[in-house]
Amino acid sequence: MFDYISISTLNDFIFCPYSIYLHNVYMGGDEELVHATPQTQGKAAHVAIDEKKYSSRKDEITSLSVYSNELGIIGKIDLYKCKEKVLIERKYQLNTIYQGQIYQLWAQYYCMTEMGYEIEKLAFYAISTNTTYPIDIPTEENKLELKNFILRFKHFDPTHPLQVNINKCTHCIYCNLCDKIDTENVYT
Ligand code: SF4
Repeated sequence: MFDYISISTLNDFIFCPYSIYLHNVYMGGDEELVHATPQTQGKAAHVAIDEKKYSSRKDEITSLSVYSNELGIIGKIDLYKCKEKVLIERKYQLNTIYQGQIYQLWAQYYCMTEMGYEIEKLAFYAISTNTTYPIDIPTEENKLELKNFILRFKHFDPTHPLQVNINKCTHCIYCNLCDKIDTENVYT
């Protein structure tokens, strides 16, 4: 059987592989207790999309489930504007665009193009500042980079010692629950 990897898990993996474990341990609990401020805001930002309330326009597709057989991934897009052929990922706040977020958008792009959608533009949209950040369409070299990253995910050895990066940890939503560090995150 072919196992598909969730695009959001890839994003978590690049941030910290251990966060995937914590996410799976605590996702069944009280989400209000687990979520730090940025995630709560981000989640609220996605509610309209997930409930398909964001747009009733016929030329906009929201919250579409997507997959790629070639890359072995599945996920959901935020917003695709059919006329402009633009795929948009909304975030509540975007001070920095991290590589994991770009991989996420590339992954969505490859899923959609494999499914037959035409995409000419990619962008992030920051709700808090009403700002659009255009992202280049990935090249063949970028695709190879994404494929190698997916391979790294598949071959990850969880017994390998974790490299803890305290800067990341203090911005990690699982910081207060994580047994790898003693500090609290910056959101408390
Ligand atoms: S607190 Fe640090 S080690 Fe723990 S899951 Fe978050 S980033 Fe990883």
